[in-house]
Amino acid sequence: MKTAVVTGASRGIGYSASKALSEAGYRVIINYLHSENKAQALADSLSNACIFKADVSDEDEVREMFDFVRKRFGGTDILVNNAGVSHIGVFQLMSDKEINRVLDINLKGAIFCTKYALPDMIKKQSGIIINIGSVWGEVGASCEVVYSASKAGIIGFTKALSKEVGMSGIRVNCISPGVIDTDMNKSLDSEVLSDLKQDIPLKRIGSAKEVSSVIKFLASEDSSYLNGVTISVNGGMIM
Ligand code: NAP
Repeated sequence: MKTAVVTGASRGIGYSASKALSEAGYRVIINYLHSENKAQALADSLSNACIFKADVSDEDEVREMFDFVRKRFGGTDILVNNAGVSHIGVFQLMSDKEINRVLDINLKGAIFCTKYALPDMIKKQSGIIINIGSVWGEVGASCEVVYSASKAGIIGFTKALSKEVGMSGIRVNCISPGVIDTDMNKSLDSEVLSDLKQDIPLKRIGSAKEVSSVIKFLASEDSSYLNGVTISVNGGMIM
C-alpha cells in the first residue's frame, strides 16, 4: 500500500484530498497544526489513516513527521504540499512577522516537507509531489501581495524541482486553485464574493472536492507523463 502525506489536512482542500486519496487506496497521513479533533475525526472515518501534528514552517517538526512515516510505514510515496494561510491587507502595512508567517508556511513549509520526503522517493526511484499554488500566484492579487508571491514561488519551485528529480522517477506538479469554498474565504463579505463570481466564467466558486479530484488524478498513473506543470482549477478565472 502506498503512503500519502497531506499537509494541512484537517480542513478544506487537504481534508477533501485525504478522503479522495484514501478512497483511491492510499494510506493517508493527515497532517494538522491546530484542528486536532477535526483531523482525528477524519482519520477515524477513513481506513488506513492516521494524524500527525506538525507545523510545516518548523524544520524540526517536519523532519520528525517524515521520520515517523519512514519508521512506521517505510517512507512517503506521495506528498501533497497543501498547508497554507492567507493574509488580506495593504502590502505596506504588513509587519515583518506577518510577512514571515505567510512565506514560512506557504513556501518554506512546502520546501521543508519536500526536503524530508525526497530521500525516501529517491531511494525507491519513484514518487509523486503535488504542490498547491493559487490563481494569485499566476496573476497576482492586490491586497494579497505576499500571499501571491508565496504562491508564485510554489509554481517556480515546482518547475525547477521537476527538472532536478525527474531522472529519479519522481514527478512534481502543481495545482493552482481559483476561489474555493473553504474556511480560507470565510472572512470575505458577500459583496466581494459576488464580485469574484462575476469574474469567473462558470459564475460560481469551486468546491474542495473539485480540487481534490485533480489531486487524485495527479497522484495516479493516469497522469504518468505529467511533470513540472501547473493545472489551473479555477472555473476559467484568469484576470
Ligand atoms: P483552510 O480551509 O484555511 O485550511 C488550511 C489548512 O492548513 C488547515 O488544515 C490548517 O490546519 C493547515 N495549516 C495552516 N497552517 C499550518 C501549519 N503551519 N502547519 C500545518 N498545517 C497548517 O484552507 P484551504 O482553502 O483548504 O487551503 C488549502 C491550500 O489551498 C492552501 O495552500 C491555500 O493557499 C490554497 N488555496 C486555497 C484557495 C481557496 O480559495 N480556498 C485558493 C487557492 C489556493 P489546522 O487547522 O490544523 O491548523
